[in-house]
Amino acid sequence: MTSVKVAVRVRPFNQRERNFESECIIQMDGQTTKIRNPETGEIKEFAFDFSYWSHDGFDEQPNGYMTPQAGSNYADQDRVFQDLGQEVLNNAFDGYHTCLFAYGQTGSGKSYSIVGYGNNKGVIPLACEEIFRRIDERTNNPENNIQHSVTLSMIEIYNECVQDLLIKPSERPKGGLNVREHPKFGIFVEGMSKVPVQSYNEIQKQIDTGTSNRTVGSTNMNATSSRAHTVTTLTFTQRFMDREKGIPTSEKMSEINLVDLAGSERAASTGATGDRLKEGSNINKSLSVLGKCISILAQKSSTGNKSAVVPYRESKLTFILKNALGGNSKTTMIAALSPASVNYDETLSTLRYAWQVKSIKNEAKVNESAQD
Ligand code: ADP
Ligand code: MG
Repeated sequence: MTSVKVAVRVRPFNQRERNFESECIIQMDGQTTKIRNPETGEIKEFAFDFSYWSHDGFDEQPNGYMTPQAGSNYADQDRVFQDLGQEVLNNAFDGYHTCLFAYGQTGSGKSYSIVGYGNNKGVIPLACEEIFRRIDERTNNPENNIQHSVTLSMIEIYNECVQDLLIKPSERPKGGLNVREHPKFGIFVEGMSKVPVQSYNEIQKQIDTGTSNRTVGSTNMNATSSRAHTVTTLTFTQRFMDREKGIPTSEKMSEINLVDLAGSERAASTGATGDRLKEGSNINKSLSVLGKCISILAQKSSTGNKSAVVPYRESKLTFILKNALGGNSKTTMIAALSPASVNYDETLSTLRYAWQVKSIKNEAKVNESAQD
Protein backbone atom coordinates (compact mmCIF):
# COMPACT_ATOMS: atom_id res chain seq x y z
CA MET A 1 0.00 0.00 0.00
CA THR A 2 1.29 3.46 -0.84
CA SER A 3 -0.22 6.72 0.34
CA VAL A 4 -1.18 9.38 -2.13
CA LYS A 5 1.65 11.88 -2.15
CA VAL A 6 0.52 15.46 -1.53
CA ALA A 7 2.34 18.70 -2.31
CA VAL A 8 1.09 22.25 -1.83
CA ARG A 9 2.45 25.31 -3.62
CA VAL A 10 1.81 28.97 -2.92
CA ARG A 11 2.08 31.42 -5.82
CA PRO A 12 3.21 35.08 -5.85
CA PHE A 13 0.67 37.89 -5.49
CA ASN A 14 -1.00 38.77 -8.76
CA GLN A 15 -1.27 42.36 -9.96
CA ARG A 16 -4.67 42.88 -8.38
CA GLU A 17 -3.50 41.63 -5.02
CA ARG A 18 -0.42 43.86 -5.26
CA ASN A 19 -2.60 46.86 -6.08
CA PHE A 20 -4.70 46.19 -2.99
CA GLU A 21 -1.56 45.67 -0.92
CA SER A 22 -2.86 42.27 0.14
CA GLU A 23 -1.30 40.51 3.04
CA CYS A 24 0.21 37.05 2.74
CA ILE A 25 -1.47 34.62 5.13
CA ILE A 26 0.63 31.57 4.20
CA GLN A 27 3.88 30.57 5.84
CA MET A 28 5.96 27.50 5.19
CA ASP A 29 8.45 25.73 7.36
CA GLY A 30 9.97 22.58 5.89
CA GLN A 31 7.09 20.30 4.98
CA THR A 32 4.63 22.29 7.04
CA THR A 33 2.23 24.91 5.70
CA LYS A 34 0.67 27.45 8.08
CA ILE A 35 -2.34 29.60 7.35
CA ARG A 36 -3.39 32.60 9.41
CA ASN A 37 -7.00 33.64 9.82
CA PRO A 38 -6.84 37.35 8.87
CA GLU A 39 -9.68 38.22 11.28
CA THR A 40 -8.76 36.30 14.41
CA GLY A 41 -5.04 35.80 13.86
CA GLU A 42 -5.45 32.09 14.61
CA ILE A 43 -2.89 29.88 12.86
CA LYS A 44 -3.57 26.39 11.53
CA GLU A 45 -0.80 23.99 10.53
CA PHE A 46 -0.74 21.16 8.01
CA ALA A 47 2.17 18.85 7.22
CA PHE A 48 2.47 17.55 3.65
CA ASP A 49 5.01 15.58 1.66
CA PHE A 50 6.14 18.85 0.09
CA SER A 51 5.33 22.49 0.85
CA TYR A 52 6.56 24.68 -2.00
CA TRP A 53 7.22 28.32 -1.31
CA SER A 54 6.84 30.00 -4.71
CA HIS A 55 5.60 33.31 -3.32
CA ASP A 56 8.62 35.57 -3.58
CA GLY A 57 12.30 35.46 -4.33
CA PHE A 58 12.11 35.49 -8.11
CA ASP A 59 12.82 38.01 -10.83
CA GLU A 60 10.38 38.28 -13.64
CA GLN A 61 12.19 38.68 -16.97
CA PRO A 62 10.71 40.70 -19.87
CA ASN A 63 9.74 37.42 -21.59
CA GLY A 64 7.76 36.34 -18.52
CA TYR A 65 10.42 33.86 -17.44
CA MET A 66 10.94 33.57 -13.68
CA THR A 67 14.47 33.23 -12.44
CA PRO A 68 15.03 32.73 -8.73
CA GLN A 69 17.03 35.50 -7.07
CA ALA A 70 20.42 34.43 -5.76
CA GLY A 71 20.04 32.78 -2.38
CA SER A 72 16.25 32.81 -2.49
CA ASN A 73 14.12 29.83 -1.61
CA TYR A 74 11.61 30.30 -4.44
CA ALA A 75 10.60 26.78 -5.54
CA ASP A 76 10.72 26.93 -9.33
CA GLN A 77 9.31 24.65 -12.03
CA ASP A 78 12.43 22.53 -12.13
CA ARG A 79 12.30 21.89 -8.41
CA VAL A 80 8.67 20.70 -8.63
CA PHE A 81 9.49 18.55 -11.63
CA GLN A 82 12.53 16.97 -9.95
CA ASP A 83 10.45 16.04 -6.88
CA LEU A 84 7.13 15.07 -8.43
CA GLY A 85 7.57 14.65 -12.20
CA GLN A 86 10.65 12.42 -12.07
CA GLU A 87 8.87 10.17 -9.58
CA VAL A 88 5.88 9.87 -11.92
CA LEU A 89 8.26 8.75 -14.68
CA ASN A 90 10.18 6.36 -12.40
CA ASN A 91 6.89 4.69 -11.53
CA ALA A 92 5.89 4.49 -15.19
CA PHE A 93 9.22 2.90 -16.13
CA ASP A 94 8.64 0.39 -13.33
CA GLY A 95 5.30 -0.47 -14.94
CA TYR A 96 2.89 1.26 -12.55
CA HIS A 97 -0.03 3.44 -13.55
CA THR A 98 0.54 6.93 -12.22
CA CYS A 99 -1.51 10.08 -11.81
CA LEU A 100 -0.67 13.65 -10.92
CA PHE A 101 -3.53 16.04 -10.39
CA ALA A 102 -3.73 19.72 -9.52
CA TYR A 103 -6.46 21.07 -7.25
CA GLY A 104 -7.28 24.60 -6.16
CA GLN A 105 -9.43 27.65 -6.82
CA THR A 106 -9.26 29.47 -10.15
CA GLY A 107 -6.12 31.57 -10.38
CA SER A 108 -4.24 29.69 -7.68
CA GLY A 109 -1.60 28.20 -10.00
CA LYS A 110 -2.86 24.75 -11.10
CA SER A 111 -2.11 25.24 -14.79
CA TYR A 112 1.19 26.94 -13.96
CA SER A 113 2.39 23.76 -12.20
CA ILE A 114 0.83 21.17 -14.50
CA VAL A 115 1.23 22.84 -17.91
CA GLY A 116 3.24 26.01 -17.34
CA TYR A 117 3.38 29.21 -19.34
CA GLY A 118 5.94 29.96 -22.10
CA ASN A 119 9.45 29.30 -20.88
CA ASN A 120 8.23 28.29 -17.43
CA LYS A 121 7.36 24.77 -18.50
CA GLY A 122 5.24 22.74 -16.12
CA VAL A 123 5.21 19.04 -15.38
CA ILE A 124 3.55 17.94 -18.66
CA PRO A 125 6.12 19.39 -21.09
CA LEU A 126 9.05 18.58 -18.79
CA ALA A 127 7.87 14.98 -18.37
CA CYS A 128 7.42 14.61 -22.14
CA GLU A 129 10.94 15.90 -22.69
CA GLU A 130 12.36 13.60 -20.04
CA ILE A 131 10.53 10.46 -21.16
CA PHE A 132 12.06 10.73 -24.65
CA ARG A 133 15.47 11.59 -23.20
CA ARG A 134 15.34 8.37 -21.18
CA ILE A 135 14.08 6.35 -24.15
CA ASP A 136 16.85 7.73 -26.42
CA GLU A 137 19.46 6.96 -23.79
CA ARG A 138 18.32 3.34 -23.71
CA THR A 139 17.95 3.05 -27.48
CA ASN A 140 21.50 4.37 -28.00
CA ASN A 141 22.87 1.75 -25.65
CA PRO A 142 23.90 -1.35 -27.67
CA GLU A 143 23.01 -3.54 -24.67
CA ASN A 144 19.41 -2.35 -24.87
CA ASN A 145 16.79 -4.98 -25.59
CA ILE A 146 13.67 -2.93 -24.91
CA GLN A 147 11.28 -1.46 -27.45
CA HIS A 148 9.29 1.57 -26.34
CA SER A 149 6.10 3.17 -27.48
CA VAL A 150 4.28 6.27 -26.29
CA THR A 151 0.78 7.43 -27.17
CA LEU A 152 -0.91 10.67 -26.20
CA SER A 153 -4.57 11.33 -25.39
CA MET A 154 -6.15 14.56 -24.21
CA ILE A 155 -9.70 14.99 -23.03
CA GLU A 156 -11.75 17.70 -21.44
CA ILE A 157 -14.66 17.18 -19.06
CA TYR A 158 -16.98 20.11 -19.36
CA ASN A 159 -20.56 20.11 -18.05
CA GLU A 160 -20.31 16.35 -17.41
CA CYS A 161 -19.54 15.86 -21.09
CA VAL A 162 -16.27 14.23 -22.20
CA GLN A 163 -14.66 15.71 -25.33
CA ASP A 164 -11.62 14.56 -27.26
CA LEU A 165 -9.26 17.53 -27.44
CA LEU A 166 -7.18 15.96 -30.20
CA ILE A 167 -10.23 16.21 -32.50
CA LYS A 168 -11.51 19.56 -33.82
CA PRO A 169 -14.78 20.62 -32.11
CA SER A 170 -16.65 20.51 -35.45
CA GLU A 171 -15.66 16.88 -36.03
CA ARG A 172 -16.55 15.49 -32.62
CA PRO A 173 -19.55 13.25 -31.96
CA LYS A 174 -22.52 15.16 -30.50
CA GLY A 175 -22.96 14.69 -26.77
CA GLY A 176 -19.37 13.67 -26.15
CA LEU A 177 -17.73 10.34 -25.38
CA ASN A 178 -18.87 7.56 -23.05
CA VAL A 179 -16.81 6.21 -20.20
CA ARG A 180 -16.99 2.43 -19.81
CA GLU A 181 -15.48 -0.31 -17.75
CA HIS A 182 -14.08 -3.44 -19.37
CA PRO A 183 -13.82 -6.52 -17.11
CA LYS A 184 -10.21 -7.15 -18.15
CA PHE A 185 -8.78 -3.86 -19.39
CA GLY A 186 -10.51 -1.59 -16.89
CA ILE A 187 -11.95 1.87 -17.43
CA PHE A 188 -11.65 3.56 -20.79
CA VAL A 189 -13.13 6.46 -22.72
CA GLU A 190 -14.84 4.96 -25.71
CA GLY A 191 -13.54 6.27 -29.05
CA MET A 192 -10.90 8.55 -27.50
CA SER A 193 -7.92 9.06 -29.80
CA LYS A 194 -4.56 7.67 -28.79
CA VAL A 195 -1.95 9.28 -30.99
CA PRO A 196 1.43 7.53 -31.29
CA VAL A 197 4.27 9.97 -30.67
CA GLN A 198 7.96 9.47 -31.41
CA SER A 199 9.58 12.61 -30.07
CA TYR A 200 9.15 15.57 -27.76
CA ASN A 201 8.44 17.90 -30.70
CA GLU A 202 5.68 15.65 -31.96
CA ILE A 203 4.07 15.43 -28.57
CA GLN A 204 4.34 19.19 -28.03
CA LYS A 205 2.63 19.83 -31.38
CA GLN A 206 -0.26 17.55 -30.40
CA ILE A 207 -0.57 19.16 -26.98
CA ASP A 208 -0.68 22.63 -28.58
CA THR A 209 -3.51 21.43 -30.84
CA GLY A 210 -5.34 19.97 -27.85
CA THR A 211 -4.88 23.13 -25.82
CA SER A 212 -6.30 25.32 -28.59
CA ASN A 213 -9.31 22.97 -28.88
CA ARG A 214 -10.32 23.55 -25.26
CA THR A 215 -13.54 25.20 -24.24
CA VAL A 216 -12.82 28.50 -22.59
CA GLY A 217 -15.36 30.38 -20.50
CA SER A 218 -14.97 33.57 -18.58
CA THR A 219 -16.10 34.49 -15.09
CA ASN A 220 -15.36 37.42 -12.84
CA MET A 221 -12.61 35.52 -11.08
CA ASN A 222 -10.36 34.86 -14.03
CA ALA A 223 -11.23 35.90 -17.54
CA THR A 224 -9.12 33.31 -19.35
CA SER A 225 -9.29 30.32 -17.07
CA SER A 226 -10.88 27.18 -18.39
CA ARG A 227 -13.93 26.01 -16.48
CA ALA A 228 -13.24 22.43 -17.42
CA HIS A 229 -11.15 19.53 -16.21
CA THR A 230 -8.34 18.59 -18.61
CA VAL A 231 -6.87 15.09 -18.54
CA THR A 232 -3.67 14.42 -20.51
CA THR A 233 -2.74 10.75 -20.71
CA LEU A 234 0.49 9.15 -21.91
CA THR A 235 0.37 5.41 -22.46
CA PHE A 236 3.87 4.05 -22.12
CA THR A 237 4.69 0.51 -23.25
CA GLN A 238 8.00 -1.33 -22.85
CA ARG A 239 8.50 -4.52 -24.78
CA PHE A 240 11.34 -6.69 -23.49
CA MET A 241 12.88 -8.51 -26.46
CA ASP A 242 14.64 -11.84 -26.64
CA ARG A 243 17.88 -10.84 -28.36
CA GLU A 244 18.48 -14.15 -30.11
CA LYS A 245 15.00 -14.75 -31.38
CA GLY A 246 14.10 -11.06 -31.88
CA ILE A 247 10.66 -11.53 -30.34
CA PRO A 248 9.16 -9.93 -27.23
CA THR A 249 9.20 -12.02 -24.06
CA SER A 250 7.22 -9.69 -21.83
CA GLU A 251 5.62 -6.29 -21.78
CA LYS A 252 5.03 -3.54 -19.23
CA MET A 253 2.32 -0.98 -19.77
CA SER A 254 1.71 2.16 -17.79
CA GLU A 255 -0.81 4.96 -18.01
CA ILE A 256 0.38 8.38 -16.93
CA ASN A 257 -2.56 10.66 -16.15
CA LEU A 258 -1.83 14.38 -15.73
CA VAL A 259 -4.90 16.27 -14.60
CA ASP A 260 -5.57 20.00 -14.48
CA LEU A 261 -8.84 20.30 -12.56
CA ALA A 262 -11.33 23.12 -12.96
CA GLY A 263 -11.41 25.75 -10.22
CA SER A 264 -12.61 24.41 -6.89
CA GLU A 265 -14.41 27.61 -5.82
CA ARG A 266 -18.14 27.54 -5.30
CA ALA A 267 -20.26 28.85 -8.15
CA ALA A 268 -21.59 31.62 -5.89
CA SER A 269 -18.24 33.32 -5.40
CA THR A 270 -17.59 33.65 -9.14
CA GLY A 271 -20.64 35.82 -9.72
CA ALA A 272 -21.93 33.24 -12.18
CA THR A 273 -25.50 33.45 -13.43
CA GLY A 274 -27.59 31.65 -16.06
CA ASP A 275 -25.52 29.35 -18.28
CA ARG A 276 -22.41 29.90 -16.28
CA LEU A 277 -24.30 28.96 -13.13
CA LYS A 278 -25.52 25.68 -14.61
CA GLU A 279 -21.98 25.08 -15.74
CA GLY A 280 -20.73 25.93 -12.28
CA SER A 281 -23.02 23.43 -10.63
CA ASN A 282 -22.01 20.72 -13.10
CA ILE A 283 -18.35 21.45 -12.60
CA ASN A 284 -19.09 21.28 -8.93
CA LYS A 285 -20.84 17.98 -9.50
CA SER A 286 -17.58 16.39 -10.69
CA LEU A 287 -15.65 18.14 -7.97
CA SER A 288 -18.16 17.42 -5.23
CA VAL A 289 -18.29 13.74 -6.19
CA LEU A 290 -14.49 13.83 -6.18
CA GLY A 291 -14.72 15.23 -2.66
CA LYS A 292 -17.18 12.52 -1.62
CA CYS A 293 -14.97 9.76 -3.08
CA ILE A 294 -11.90 11.21 -1.35
CA SER A 295 -13.55 11.41 2.05
CA ILE A 296 -14.84 7.82 1.80
CA LEU A 297 -11.45 6.57 0.58
CA ALA A 298 -9.71 8.38 3.41
CA GLN A 299 -12.12 6.84 5.91
CA LYS A 300 -11.60 3.38 4.43
CA SER A 301 -7.83 3.76 4.70
CA SER A 302 -7.92 4.93 8.30
CA THR A 303 -10.55 2.48 9.60
CA GLY A 304 -9.66 -0.48 7.39
CA ASN A 305 -13.38 -0.74 6.59
CA LYS A 306 -13.32 -2.36 3.17
CA SER A 307 -17.08 -2.46 2.60
CA ALA A 308 -17.82 1.27 2.18
CA VAL A 309 -18.89 2.02 -1.38
CA VAL A 310 -17.03 4.76 -3.23
CA PRO A 311 -19.39 6.51 -5.70
CA TYR A 312 -16.90 6.74 -8.61
CA ARG A 313 -19.66 6.36 -11.19
CA GLU A 314 -21.56 9.41 -10.02
CA SER A 315 -19.41 11.73 -12.13
CA LYS A 316 -17.37 11.45 -15.32
CA LEU A 317 -14.27 12.77 -13.63
CA THR A 318 -14.26 10.26 -10.77
CA PHE A 319 -15.15 7.36 -13.06
CA ILE A 320 -12.18 8.17 -15.30
CA LEU A 321 -9.92 8.66 -12.27
CA LYS A 322 -11.19 5.56 -10.43
CA ASN A 323 -7.87 3.75 -10.64
CA ALA A 324 -5.88 6.85 -9.88
CA LEU A 325 -7.92 7.52 -6.74
CA GLY A 326 -8.50 4.23 -5.11
CA GLY A 327 -6.92 1.49 -7.04
CA ASN A 328 -4.01 0.43 -9.11
CA SER A 329 -2.05 3.66 -9.35
CA LYS A 330 0.69 5.70 -7.71
CA THR A 331 -0.92 9.05 -7.29
CA THR A 332 0.27 12.55 -6.47
CA MET A 333 -1.75 15.68 -5.80
CA ILE A 334 -0.54 19.22 -6.04
CA ALA A 335 -2.74 21.70 -4.23
CA ALA A 336 -2.35 25.24 -5.50
CA LEU A 337 -2.70 28.07 -2.95
CA SER A 338 -3.32 31.78 -3.23
CA PRO A 339 -1.26 33.73 -0.67
CA ALA A 340 -3.82 36.52 -0.22
CA SER A 341 -5.99 37.13 2.83
CA VAL A 342 -9.11 37.72 0.67
CA ASN A 343 -8.93 34.06 -0.34
CA TYR A 344 -8.64 32.72 3.22
CA ASP A 345 -11.81 30.59 3.12
CA GLU A 346 -11.01 28.95 -0.22
CA THR A 347 -7.36 28.40 0.66
CA LEU A 348 -8.26 26.82 3.99
CA SER A 349 -10.73 24.51 2.29
CA THR A 350 -8.03 23.53 -0.26
CA LEU A 351 -5.64 22.72 2.60
CA ARG A 352 -8.29 20.58 4.33
CA TYR A 353 -9.03 18.78 1.09
CA ALA A 354 -5.34 18.10 0.51
CA TRP A 355 -4.97 16.90 4.09
CA GLN A 356 -7.72 14.35 3.56
CA VAL A 357 -6.19 13.14 0.30
CA LYS A 358 -2.93 12.46 2.12
CA SER A 359 -4.49 9.65 4.13
CA ILE A 360 -5.67 7.68 1.06
CA LYS A 361 -3.69 4.52 0.43
CA ASN A 362 -3.54 2.78 -2.95
CA GLU A 363 -2.54 -0.67 -3.95
CA ALA A 364 -0.52 -0.23 -7.14
CA LYS A 365 0.81 -3.25 -8.99
CA VAL A 366 3.21 -3.63 -11.89
CA ASN A 367 1.30 -4.06 -15.14
CA GLU A 368 3.38 -6.78 -16.73
CA SER A 369 2.28 -9.51 -19.07
CA ALA A 370 4.22 -12.40 -20.55
CA GLN A 371 4.03 -12.80 -24.33
CA ASP A 372 3.00 -16.13 -25.73
P1 ADP B 1 -5.19 28.26 -12.34
O1 ADP B 1 -4.81 27.30 -13.42
O2 ADP B 1 -5.24 27.61 -10.98
O3 ADP B 1 -6.45 29.00 -12.64
P2 ADP B 1 -2.82 29.68 -13.17
O4 ADP B 1 -1.89 28.53 -13.18
O5 ADP B 1 -3.32 30.13 -14.51
O6 ADP B 1 -4.07 29.40 -12.21
O7 ADP B 1 -2.10 30.87 -12.39
C1 ADP B 1 -2.64 32.18 -12.27
C2 ADP B 1 -1.52 33.21 -12.47
O8 ADP B 1 -0.53 33.10 -11.47
C3 ADP B 1 -0.79 33.05 -13.79
O9 ADP B 1 -0.54 34.33 -14.33
C4 ADP B 1 0.51 32.38 -13.42
O10 ADP B 1 1.56 32.73 -14.30
C5 ADP B 1 0.76 32.89 -12.02
N1 ADP B 1 1.43 31.84 -11.21
C6 ADP B 1 0.83 30.74 -10.72
N2 ADP B 1 1.70 29.98 -10.01
C7 ADP B 1 2.88 30.61 -10.06
C8 ADP B 1 4.19 30.35 -9.53
N3 ADP B 1 4.43 29.24 -8.80
N4 ADP B 1 5.19 31.22 -9.78
C9 ADP B 1 4.95 32.33 -10.52
N5 ADP B 1 3.74 32.66 -11.04
C10 ADP B 1 2.72 31.83 -10.83
MG1 MG C 1 -5.92 26.85 -15.15
